[in-house]
Amino acid sequence: MPTSRKAIIQHLQEDYFDLIIIGGGATGAGIALDASSRGLKVALVEKGDFASGTSSKSTKLIHGGLRYLKQLDIALVRETGTERATVNRIAPHLCLPEKMLLPLTEDGTYGKYSTSLGLFVYDILAGVDGDDRRKMLSKEETLAIEPLLDANAVVGGGYYAEYRTDDARLTIELIKKAMTFDAVAMNYCEVHGFHYTDDEIDGVRCTDHLSGEPILIKGRRVVSAAGPWVDQIRKKNDSVKGKRLHLTKGVHLVFPREKFPVKQSLYFDEPSGRMLFAIPRGKVTYLGTTDTNYSGDLDRIICLKEDRDYLLNAVNRIFPSINLTPDDVISNWAGLRPLIHEDGKSPSELSRKDEIFVAPDGLISIAGGKLTGYRKMGERIVDLVIKKDHDEISQKLKSVYTKELPLGSENFMTNEEVQDYITDLSHRISDLGLDPYYGWYLVTTYGKQSEKILAQLNTNSTPTDLAIAEVRYGLESEMIARAEDYFVRRTGRLYFDIESIDVIRSSVMSVLSESLEWTPEQEALENKRLDELIFDATHYYDVEFSA
Ligand code: FAD
Repeated sequence: MPTSRKAIIQHLQEDYFDLIIIGGGATGAGIALDASSRGLKVALVEKGDFASGTSSKSTKLIHGGLRYLKQLDIALVRETGTERATVNRIAPHLCLPEKMLLPLTEDGTYGKYSTSLGLFVYDILAGVDGDDRRKMLSKEETLAIEPLLDANAVVGGGYYAEYRTDDARLTIELIKKAMTFDAVAMNYCEVHGFHYTDDEIDGVRCTDHLSGEPILIKGRRVVSAAGPWVDQIRKKNDSVKGKRLHLTKGVHLVFPREKFPVKQSLYFDEPSGRMLFAIPRGKVTYLGTTDTNYSGDLDRIICLKEDRDYLLNAVNRIFPSINLTPDDVISNWAGLRPLIHEDGKSPSELSRKDEIFVAPDGLISIAGGKLTGYRKMGERIVDLVIKKDHDEISQKLKSVYTKELPLGSENFMTNEEVQDYITDLSHRISDLGLDPYYGWYLVTTYGKQSEKILAQLNTNSTPTDLAIAEVRYGLESEMIARAEDYFVRRTGRLYFDIESIDVIRSSVMSVLSESLEWTPEQEALENKRLDELIFDATHYYDVEFSA
């Protein structure tokens, strides 16, 4: 497996691949792992960092999709429910059980009986058993679990199982795993055109954004898993015919835990009937999401004042005692859902099912879908490729076994083992002089790979020493190529620990600059980009950036 960027570029240029994947989000990463583990020779290119598109901007739940039950999308509920259990098994440190409380109110969208029946059907479709099965709670039980709710409005609650993840970390681990099966993956490498032989696509023309060099990659099949950019890629071969994308924007706001001290995750409705999540995570609680049509800049998605105010109004209505104001919001993120257009449907009514398009020149595109369904989407695409190329590649193919492939080096066997490891690491980290919070943070970010970070620390370590150890690990093992890769996708610090950035920034930049051999101009550019990301995560605009 090549690890240096130079060696990766050489491989991409010299090898002939069975499958070239455009896009390093969860979908592309899932395809890469399925294909490479079945024996195909895979190349994956991503124009930004891995997971820099929608796959770092989701609600970060691996979920069975309760809301799809309302749309009667039974097959989707069943598939996401089953997949949820699989992801929990192969990556329990990245798919943590999270009980969800659905409070019922006098004037709410959900009644007691319909909720009870809905959650019952959901449990059956999603294959939920044991303690995870839904419980219906009385008013008193609901308020005991979440005292912040309005005692005058709540009449009871539904209590059911969901799973929390880190979308970007999940994507990175999928790519790392695919690389163990010799997939060649490169970030900051944008596809801008295709290569043809006899009117059939057999390659992609790219630019390495870090060196500015052109790269031609040749292969048998090309799949575009470019998320919100799928139609831009389809425009390159003039294949946007029939079904097309419909982008909707979703915003999340982040609050310090003490300002929004919910004891546990909630799924609640706002007056129009839309459902929102409030999810405590480490030092913060995050709230989301909006769902509005989008036609602005795909590369700079921001939070508008109206997005923020909509979420604040909704949350202050359901928790009237907390009075959250714009000043309480410490960070935000905004992402695009790459949904499939259906005439006359509103954003929330559009199906979340994935769709595959095959163009006459052979370009395969996949869009729609959920993070939760990444494994099945990968399987469907690879099945299609195999069907097309069976004669040429059948001799080297294995059957799908991504269900059995643990993510994140050594795997945990159970959720309890993850909890025990968090407790153990919290003690060890506090023995090194650090806040025990970092025990939880390391395990839920890196799993057992945390040992490689811990091994670099001595007693009397500071948060900066920890950050430097993480950066060194990320440079060596996770293809960090730019400063934002560390601050946003590898660690989630921009969203979940934004205050830490001021403290560690200059030391982290020094290590990156030395290791990546930045010129003073490059370092200035990296700092400017980071300033822009911090600005967008902490500011609220009047209008979108235009496309
Ligand atoms: P992306 O992650 O966008 O990846 C596509 C990649 O292609 C991008 O990184 C982009 O840079 C790259 N690319 C584009 N053009 C090129 C090019 N020319 N050359 C090279 N690379 C290119 N799902 C869940 O399961 N659970 C949730 O809780 C959840 N919540 C969500 C909340 C919100 C607000 C949103 C927006 C989505 C949510 N989803 C959720 C859906 C889920 O996040 C997406 O379905 C999933 O992340 C899409 O992944 P993707 O790989 O298809 O797209």
